[in-house]
Amino acid sequence: MQRGSGEIGGNLLTERKETMKISRPRPPRFELIAGNVSLDFVNTLDDRHINPKELLETYLDLVRFGEDAGLLSSPQVDRLFERSYIEPDLAAGALNQARELREAIHDVFWAIINKRPAPPAALARLNADAQAAAGHMHLVPTKNGFEWRFDDFGDFDSLLWPIARAAADLLASDQLAYVRPCSSKTCEWFFLDTSKNHHRRWCDMTRCGNRAKVQRFYVRKKNSG
Ligand SMILES: [Zn+2]
Repeated sequence: MQRGSGEIGGNLLTERKETMKISRPRPPRFELIAGNVSLDFVNTLDDRHINPKELLETYLDLVRFGEDAGLLSSPQVDRLFERSYIEPDLAAGALNQARELREAIHDVFWAIINKRPAPPAALARLNADAQAAAGHMHLVPTKNGFEWRFDDFGDFDSLLWPIARAAADLLASDQLAYVRPCSSKTCEWFFLDTSKNHHRRWCDMTRCGNRAKVQRFYVRKKNSG
């Protein structure tokens, strides 16, 4: 299934000009349907089991994901993007790290969904990233108590801290039982089923749900005709 706005991996110079010109929220380019940022992150490898399509082709895609997910402000995105031009190797390294973390998160949750033990290498990777993330967290007082905040998102890989953390927290929570893949075999996007009866089947009703309904309609029509 084709996802996204089609501008992913577009001409970097055009993108750069666009970034320098506009410093307010841009239209979202990722479909965030999972209800948990770490699962949305897994979904950035689209159609992964049939015909994988990489939605994180460049470092800009990664920071745009962070912006869409509310992890980065637009000025932070601009700053990281500008820096990625000055230090492209570091940015490319962070993109690589991001994809590795994503696959580790996928492999752990996929094993759990299929009632298998989490693969040790994937779990070790997630543990390492969650531990690194913790080193960048600090408690700050709020109106009603305290909350965890992350250090300023100045490092290329800083976007990965809240993602690794969200995956680790989800694994250790009672919500783990509600992590599901979309029932469409050509999709299998992950989501957290927070519906009342926990019977949600589709990543998104208008995409996979309706398609399945239409398919069932045609099968019924064929069988009855
Ligand atoms: Zn789906």
